[in-house]
Amino acid sequence: MSERNPGFSTRAIHAGQEPDALTGAVVPPIHQVSTYKQDGVGGLRGGYEYSRSANPTRTALEECLAALEGGSRGFAFASGLAAEDTLLRAVTTPGSHAVIPNDAYGGTYRLFAKVTHPWGLDYSPTDLGDLDAVRAAIRPETSVVWIETPTNPLLSIADVAAIAELAHAVGAVVVVDNTFATPYLQSPLELGADVVVHSTTKYAGGHSDVVGGALVTSTNPVRDDLDERIAFHHNSMGAVAGPFDAWLVLRGLKTLAIRMERHCDNAERVVEMLQAHPRVGAVLYPGLASHPNHEVAAKQMRRFGGMVSFRLRGGVEEALTVCKRAELFILGESLGGVESLIEHPGQMTHASAAGSLLEVPNDLVRLSVGIEDGDDLLADLEQALS
Ligand code: PLP
Repeated sequence: MSERNPGFSTRAIHAGQEPDALTGAVVPPIHQVSTYKQDGVGGLRGGYEYSRSANPTRTALEECLAALEGGSRGFAFASGLAAEDTLLRAVTTPGSHAVIPNDAYGGTYRLFAKVTHPWGLDYSPTDLGDLDAVRAAIRPETSVVWIETPTNPLLSIADVAAIAELAHAVGAVVVVDNTFATPYLQSPLELGADVVVHSTTKYAGGHSDVVGGALVTSTNPVRDDLDERIAFHHNSMGAVAGPFDAWLVLRGLKTLAIRMERHCDNAERVVEMLQAHPRVGAVLYPGLASHPNHEVAAKQMRRFGGMVSFRLRGGVEEALTVCKRAELFILGESLGGVESLIEHPGQMTHASAAGSLLEVPNDLVRLSVGIEDGDDLLADLEQALS
């Protein structure tokens, strides 16, 4: 690439993706291979020896992700949760402590509550929108402050720069789950985070055809050994992205910018319609001036994304009915694909948080607003709510 600092879509389409040296293929090949010929013992061609350690298709994705997040290194995993687990083992030890959002994604909460807590990592679910609460939750032994912004499914917002300052004072690693915003809408590493986490299953892949995860590290992390420790755990724990999955995510990334603009356009129309609807009690969207942390969102996000949650005045029964009646909005888990999805977090994605601090309201419906024609999406919601 030339000396110019390439723009977001140029990086998405070209970073890590030089035309193939042998054939000139403009798309990186799917290197569906486990091992590589060595030219004499230790004579590796391009550093590849075994595909758990490194694979050229995965390398292309990792370089592209690092370029999009403005980071030092990218690491591609078999799922978002695999990325999270690997990161936690790389940066915490039994006996240390984590601060997590009190409305984290249910699977993230389950990982802390049921996997790493029994292993010895203490954790404090905290309202990250309240900096005094964050300050009070951080302890001398806090090794990680885990931010999700916007959160899944309540779309609350945390001030990444302010929290990073508090966390770095005790040497804690600041992690931002950037799955909802994507690097197109938010750059956590520029705001002071040390690591970005993605479920690439979502907007990065963008077509609901792959499960994957990623980490991208800062060029200026709070811990000097961060890249090295993550690289070691990536290989040692082995939850890596396979070549075809890496290729699918890389293909998805090429259109991330134009997809996100369209997701945002459609979400804004949906928000406007829901706000005016008599059956809807509250609309949760960081782009609304009425959102409790709208100003922080406006400061650190370029637009506000494609995820919209709302509460039904008629309670759980009405929430379930709307989910069932929707047609174009497909009733299903996950998010971030081109097609619109609807779900009931309390009984679907966040059922594992039931009875815990992280339980979500049962009158809540979550939408992943896709990139279909906006008029059709509005018509479907109108009929589902009628
Ligand atoms: N982070 C967020 C915000 C998510 O929504 C999800 C999954 O829904 C994950 C992480 C976990 O990712 P995966 O399902 O790819 O393991």
